[in-house]
Amino acid sequence: MVKKEITSPAKLKKELEEAKAELVSRNKKLKLSVKTEAKKKVDKKKAVAKKKAEAKKKVDKKKAVAKKKAEAKKKVDKKKAEAKKKVDKKKAEAKKKEEAKKKAEEAKKKEEEAKKKEEEAKRTYEEELEEQLTEDEIKNFAIDKTDMDKLVNRVTEMIASYATNGILQNILWRKLKLSSRDGSRLALKLEKLGNITREKILENGRWTYLLLIKKIPISTISIENAPCLVCPVEGKCSTDGEISPKTCVYIEDWVLTELKTKKRHETN
Ligand code: SF4
Repeated sequence: MVKKEITSPAKLKKELEEAKAELVSRNKKLKLSVKTEAKKKVDKKKAVAKKKAEAKKKVDKKKAVAKKKAEAKKKVDKKKAEAKKKVDKKKAEAKKKEEAKKKAEEAKKKEEEAKKKEEEAKRTYEEELEEQLTEDEIKNFAIDKTDMDKLVNRVTEMIASYATNGILQNILWRKLKLSSRDGSRLALKLEKLGNITREKILENGRWTYLLLIKKIPISTISIENAPCLVCPVEGKCSTDGEISPKTCVYIEDWVLTELKTKKRHETN
């Protein structure tokens, strides 16, 4: 500090005023500096707070986006779960239906099997007859006022006409106008004679027999009216000779008559 020489009161006064002004100026500067520093600090704080607020805003925004995404995912999951539930429900219903159908089918099958067993267990009238009658009684079965040889041949020929398909006995008895009692006995007789075989079959829920040809009997009935048996020129008759069955009117008439008779029998 420089020492000044005071030479007069006025000078002293001036010096004092100058010193005072200096002090005021310094004070002002100091105050300004303090204010600036304080302002700076406040601004800094504000900037930090702003930064923090922005960071928080960003975080909040991210959180909001994440929340939205989570909600959207939740909705999608919910929809998926509902769709799955529906599919599962449908599957369960279909399974139930399938099981019910299966059960119904099984029940039906069992019922049919039981019915079949019941039917199989049922004895036929013919089976009872076979037990009751002796073989001779069956073979010698005869219908009143009927030529049994002719009937046996006729029925055998009729059965033979159905070849391997055979014919149901009830249909045949209807054609022949025979009662089922006589028809059953006749079928047994034909079987015992070895002319036919009988196959037990279930027809429209009832047991019956399919009659199949086994052996066509050789019968003299078919030739008993043949003109050749009483022909006076039979000795001279040959297929290549002057007298021949190829040109014989007797044989022609006989064949035509036999055919007509056969047809008439079949339609009866
Ligand atoms: S075919 Fe006529 S001609 Fe010859 S034997 Fe018979 S009936 Fe007689």
